Amino acid sequence: MDPEAIRRLVKIYALYNASRYDGKADKGAVMSKLVGEHPELRPVAKDISNIVPNVIDEVNSLTLQEQTKLLENCAPELLEQVTLERGKKRLPELPNHEHIVMRFAPNPNGPPTLGSARGIIINSEYVQKYNGTFILRFDDTDPQTKRPMLEAYDSYIEDCEWLGATPDLVVIASDRMAIYYSYAEKLIKLGAAYVCTCTQEEFKRYKETMAPCPDRDRAREANLQLWREMLDGLFREKEAVLRIKTDIKHKNPALRDWICFRIIYTQHPRGLECLVWPMLDFESAIEDHLLNVTHILRGKDLHDSEGRQRFLYDYLGWQYPLTIHWGRISIHEFGKFSTSEIKRAIEKGLYRGWDDPKLPTICALRRRGFHPEAIRSFMVGLGVSESDISISLENLYAENRKIIDLSAHRYFFVKEPMRMRIIGATPTTARPPLHPSSNVGFREIHVGSEVFISSADIKFAPGDVIRLKDLYNVKIVSLEPLIAERAGDERTKQLKIVHWVPTNGLYVEVLTPEGVDGGIGEHGIASEVNNVVQFERYGFVRIDDVVKREDETKIIAYFAHK
Ligand SMILES: [Zn+2]
Repeated sequence: MDPEAIRRLVKIYALYNASRYDGKADKGAVMSKLVGEHPELRPVAKDISNIVPNVIDEVNSLTLQEQTKLLENCAPELLEQVTLERGKKRLPELPNHEHIVMRFAPNPNGPPTLGSARGIIINSEYVQKYNGTFILRFDDTDPQTKRPMLEAYDSYIEDCEWLGATPDLVVIASDRMAIYYSYAEKLIKLGAAYVCTCTQEEFKRYKETMAPCPDRDRAREANLQLWREMLDGLFREKEAVLRIKTDIKHKNPALRDWICFRIIYTQHPRGLECLVWPMLDFESAIEDHLLNVTHILRGKDLHDSEGRQRFLYDYLGWQYPLTIHWGRISIHEFGKFSTSEIKRAIEKGLYRGWDDPKLPTICALRRRGFHPEAIRSFMVGLGVSESDISISLENLYAENRKIIDLSAHRYFFVKEPMRMRIIGATPTTARPPLHPSSNVGFREIHVGSEVFISSADIKFAPGDVIRLKDLYNVKIVSLEPLIAERAGDERTKQLKIVHWVPTNGLYVEVLTPEGVDGGIGEHGIASEVNNVVQFERYGFVRIDDVVKREDETKIIAYFAHK
């Protein structure tokens, strides 16, 4: 094959690889696909690998659209493969998806976590796909055990918007207590609900022996009277509950005459005066119907909820929404956590707040520099299957890296700095690029006769020559004190490259999930507040704040990932 033909072929595979990975082709992947599909090229593989980097540079400088267009022209069959692969990451079709209405219904007892993000994203993905309606509903009718947190209502709305899932409608259940009371009354009148004054233990015995409790056959009028007394505060907590009459002999004990309302005297954080509160299964069943919800996504551990709610739907002559049960997701790095545990730990001062970088909350991920699209692709990639998934955050990091790597400016940051004196250095200005591949300009770093390098990089001995990245080479004279001398400019491959910062650089504190890293960074970092940048060889961080005190400036950064 002549060199021109080989180059054309390399380009096709580079385009293919780039269109698969958000516009960035990778040398290893291009080579292995090319040689794998064209074994006749094996003998000249070495020659090919020499031209690949050049072709990749050319391809990577194009936009994803340009790459796709070119690939379509020269190898439509490869473009088809790319499309198919992308399709695999799409969610499965929903049955009956004309006019879909879906809801995400959290209890706002804390701000959204990665777990909530799954519900927010998958529901809104479907709604966007079928042009339906997305409802954010606060199921906040438990003022006691899962007590709502006032700030969390706004956090949910903000985080939904940030995640690209702005709700079409926001409903707060505790605003709609009168509706639930009216349905309770209706069910009592239908003979489908009764006031039960048994103690918990008494009822448990009836339930276990599949025997009706003495309240079960009370006349409807008498039940109505007792219900009104409950509402009027004539009972104390636990003295009475309202139960839905199901099947006291049902093979699943959880479905036998379940509680739909109970008395709670703790005041709701939103200041409501109600004494009788609906259980989640009741409230959400009524709301799903009233809001015309067509499809429900819920954890497979909630099968019993559907069983209970179906009794209600049957009494009221309603049609139950289509339900998809999905498995649990556990994320290695976070283990098992619950919103109430996090809340207690914050109160104890174990975390800086809900956006502490250690926490799996959306506000923490946002502060650390995660892109909402990365969280969306991560969640869509996990799909909606009923099997439990155990996954590492590395996958989310990879999604995020694909997005931020393209634009994050590069800076030098030196952790645990050590001063290095350079003999023979004249003041100069280093001009490293802001980004290694896109043409967005340079930083300017003024250097005198001293720099800081990281103590972790001191793995050399006197006499060794190292290269200070994008500056010049130095020869080590002594380690304590650390002294080097100028040693030319030529970049040879053998030289160990060491990162450095000017000794008048800015103090930077990086908050990571493991703790705080202190170090010195370039001056340019101060102009990147709210931006995600890469501290070279350290990782991606979001510059959070510049704190100025007298003549000292401190940068606060949040660590995203490597
Ligand atoms: Zn009873």
